[in-house]
Amino acid sequence: MNSQIMSEEKRQVEKIREAFDQEIGRFSDLSLDNLSLDEAEILQKKLSEIKTKHTGKKSELAGSKKLIGRVAPEERSAIGQFVQTIESEIVTAIESAENNLKNFINDAKIERERLDVTLPGTRPRVGHLHLLTILRQKIEEIFVSMGYSIEDDREIETDYYNFDALNIPEGHPARESQDTFYTTNGFALRSQTSTVQIRAMERRGVPIRIIAPGRVFRRDTPDLTHTPMFHQIEGLCVDKDITMAHLKGTVGEWLRRLFGKETRIRLRPSYFPFTEPSAEFDFSCFKCGGTGTFENERCRPCKGSGWIELGGSGMVHPNVLRACNVDPQIYSGFAFGFGLERMCSLMYELDDIRLMFENDVRFLEQFR
Ligand SMILES: [Zn+2]
Repeated sequence: MNSQIMSEEKRQVEKIREAFDQEIGRFSDLSLDNLSLDEAEILQKKLSEIKTKHTGKKSELAGSKKLIGRVAPEERSAIGQFVQTIESEIVTAIESAENNLKNFINDAKIERERLDVTLPGTRPRVGHLHLLTILRQKIEEIFVSMGYSIEDDREIETDYYNFDALNIPEGHPARESQDTFYTTNGFALRSQTSTVQIRAMERRGVPIRIIAPGRVFRRDTPDLTHTPMFHQIEGLCVDKDITMAHLKGTVGEWLRRLFGKETRIRLRPSYFPFTEPSAEFDFSCFKCGGTGTFENERCRPCKGSGWIELGGSGMVHPNVLRACNVDPQIYSGFAFGFGLERMCSLMYELDDIRLMFENDVRFLEQFR
């Protein structure tokens, strides 16, 4: 009877072990070589379920321990030992499978995070300078090579520097056309870079040779050729015995360096409050060479005239020199200025000046 019970208990425990062996089997001879990290993590979860099922408080193995009490006292230790052996085999098998998987997952994670320095990288998208900056730098380089220095100054100015010192007193008609933006406490956003002439002469005295590139502001409604903010480059040269010939020579020289040595220039009499005499300067078209025709058609940049109107110039007005404590009896000078956007749109044949400020990369990346 006892041995019958004993074999009954044994059979039950054997059955538990067989069921476990079936489930753990796939883990003990698990080939990790072809396993992905995701698959390994799924297996880890399954293993944990098997562990609970076979070693937890509600497991069949735990239930079989209750049977020990039912066998004859002299058989108890034998059956008890048997259950214990099976239990420790199960626990060991689970632990070993757990360790295998854990190691594999750790290695796989390290491998995944490892940097392969031989792989081609993702190139960062490199930007480039704005077309206005490119042109400005070209012009700056030309003037620096001619002995000019580059001046920069404030964009918010007093009426004095924006108008009075430039020989544009209150009530002067030029103030009308240059209507700019004002701050609530009466400062003006400079309407021309000529303000830098005054600041530079005050600071450095004469003789002086500078160019002043910078932003200027006008109360203009944006359209194809106008924006309320644009860039000018101002040039100033003051020394003894400076004449219109120096002006013509200088303007001609930098345009030749930019557009080629066959470039010609012409001066047309004009009026500006801060120069006397004043002249607008044109240069022979860089595209048609001044013929007005390009590939048998009317040349676009010069509109068929052969000339491109670029900017204003003249001899610095004696009142401007006086405003800077420079004696016009001893010193004379010339100044010139032009818009960078206008030059850019001519050179690149842009129909709309606003394109330069819209920051559309498809447009900008065409000009490097
Ligand atoms: Zn032309």
